[in-house]
Amino acid sequence: MQRMSQLFTKTRREAPADESSRNAQLLIQAGFIHKEMAGVYSYLPLGLRVINTIKRIVSAEMEALGSQELIMSTIQNKDIWEKTNRWSDEAVDVWFKSQLKNGNEIGFGWSHEEPITDMIKGHIASYADLPRYVHQFQNKLRNEVRAKSGIMRCREFIMKDMYSYSLTEEQHIAFYAKATDAYMNVFRNVGLGDRTFVTSASGGLFTEKFSHEFQTVCEAGEDVIYVHKDGTHALNGEIFTDETLQKMNAERSDFEQKKAAEVGNIFTFGTKKCEELGLYFTDAEGNKNMPFLGSYGIGITRLMGVIAEVFSDDKGLVWPASVAPYDVHGIVLDGKEREAEGIVQALEQKGMNVMYDDRADRTAGEKFADADLIGIPWRIVVSKRTMEKGMVEVKNRQRSAIEYVSEAGIVEKLKTV
Ligand code: ATP
Ligand code: MG
Repeated sequence: MQRMSQLFTKTRREAPADESSRNAQLLIQAGFIHKEMAGVYSYLPLGLRVINTIKRIVSAEMEALGSQELIMSTIQNKDIWEKTNRWSDEAVDVWFKSQLKNGNEIGFGWSHEEPITDMIKGHIASYADLPRYVHQFQNKLRNEVRAKSGIMRCREFIMKDMYSYSLTEEQHIAFYAKATDAYMNVFRNVGLGDRTFVTSASGGLFTEKFSHEFQTVCEAGEDVIYVHKDGTHALNGEIFTDETLQKMNAERSDFEQKKAAEVGNIFTFGTKKCEELGLYFTDAEGNKNMPFLGSYGIGITRLMGVIAEVFSDDKGLVWPASVAPYDVHGIVLDGKEREAEGIVQALEQKGMNVMYDDRADRTAGEKFADADLIGIPWRIVVSKRTMEKGMVEVKNRQRSAIEYVSEAGIVEKLKTV
């Protein structure tokens, strides 16, 4: 149980005046994040609980794919990026760079294909060592020009990045398809399944080969996508051309234009990068060969921002149960602490996580407003009135109806959706 009287953060009465994005306004007001400067945020205890839950959902899918977790450094070696011609600011326009005391230049990781491929040379020697999949949750640093979308576009953000090294192109394509499904499972499990589309995109900055974005329809998104009317896929604005449509045997009118946020992106690199960095293996015939590289990113903090945008109303955040910082928001009124704490403890024993508003110096109205702002799925109230009925008041954050439930029936009630 987290007592609100002891909670490290306080809610604010007003949204911060220096934020124009809804996700940052709400998350700051409710005490989930702290703005350090434009595009740079810290994650406070409530925000970190959401991040950790999203990470668990992502980890489960990565492990099911057979990927192993590691963590690479943020400080990166210039030499490695020079080998693939991605060190220059012309090639990559988001680099943060610095210098060691001896004058040597270093870069701060905006991505990790090069360092991982270089590192893995020490661990892949023969065809028996392939395929290999690795992933990490890592703070990426990018010198973004614009940072007006709250935590949806940051100069420091958490990304889950996975890298696949396959024996053959065929093996790569099969894994890429499995990874696509795993990504959709993630977006479904955080509550965004019905508005997230696998979106065909050009390789852009990364590659000439194929890539796919996972785009979540959202007014605050910075991208424009074209969703096919059958609802199974979408096209990125860049490739929505007459030529592409002709190749697909489709018409403009088959698609609907939507604003969207890119929550994930997967790429096929092929063998070029391995060749440039000298990653080879010996095949069954004793010949030297290059693995086939794929790269798979999810913006963990951007995803949290999109969830906040999509699931919120004029009173505050409305977390889907799968990512909420707590399951239940308990409120005690009229000095009924003894009764309320008994109920909260019973809920915790049943495995529910409870935020318990035990603050003696707040009115009922203030407590209700904070519960709405923070957005935990279930609110329960224990007061003189509810105790006279021998009941607990229960309300779901998504609905306006208030119900009275007996203490014995409350766990069952809170399990319903
Ligand atoms: P964008 O087109 O939005 O700038 P990108 O294509 O450069 O993103 P990738 O390199 O594909 O991003 O990174 C993988 C994922 O990391 C993205 O799909 C997105 O969810 C997230 N991401 C990228 N840049 C940022 C950022 N500046 N702030 C927060 N999340 C980001
Ligand atoms: Mg991308």
